[in-house]
Amino acid sequence: MADDFPIIEKTFAFRCTQCADCCTGDQTVFLNLFDLYKMAQYLQLNHTALLFSKKIVALKKDTQNDVYRPVIRFKSRPFKFCPFLINEWGENGKITGWCRLHPRHKPLVCSLAPVGVRFDAAEDSLQFLLVPPTDRCPGLKEAPVQILEEYLAPYQQEIAFQNLFFKVLECVKSNGWSAAQFQHNLYAFSLQKPFAETLEDILRVHCGTDRIS
Ligand code: SF4
Ligand code: SF4
Repeated sequence: MADDFPIIEKTFAFRCTQCADCCTGDQTVFLNLFDLYKMAQYLQLNHTALLFSKKIVALKKDTQNDVYRPVIRFKSRPFKFCPFLINEWGENGKITGWCRLHPRHKPLVCSLAPVGVRFDAAEDSLQFLLVPPTDRCPGLKEAPVQILEEYLAPYQQEIAFQNLFFKVLECVKSNGWSAAQFQHNLYAFSLQKPFAETLEDILRVHCGTDRIS
């Protein structure tokens, strides 16, 4: 994540209008390990490898951190849009965007928007930044004040999982893996176990620890 977004200390102004601008066009929706688990669960798949083989998820190089990360593959016709987006005509005559994954299976980055999470590996700490979902996001204009602590409260467990995912990426980023190796070694796992146990396994294999708290 770029360094020039403002840090949110306590409050920020936002209310999503469900315009779906951030679910269409040239958006990149980065996923973490738990997002893969939730998405596979929603689609009733028993293994996250199927998200790749069914072309729902692809890998994209995170050049800033020199790792490959999973992203949602947007449809390209009749325009670019997230495959989980449903558009409906609203009562006001405008198109409204609904997310099929909302609320339980939605990627964390979408649930937290416009709050972006930055993990500082050296300090082992998180910062919360105001990241406009798009340049035109109407939700940031004349919007009510949100209290950061309250906004994040439902997502504490998921933020903790993401924090550990970022730690795993730190552990593996010097391995020189190709995209295919990232996919096979890190992003392909069964849903047979509860996610916390899978995360413990991943930490043990790649970081030599199964500490998840
Ligand atoms: S662009 Fe902003 S207002 Fe529109 S759906 Fe995304 S977050 Fe909501
Ligand atoms: S997962 Fe949902 S909120 Fe995120 S881009 Fe797709 S439709 Fe939009």
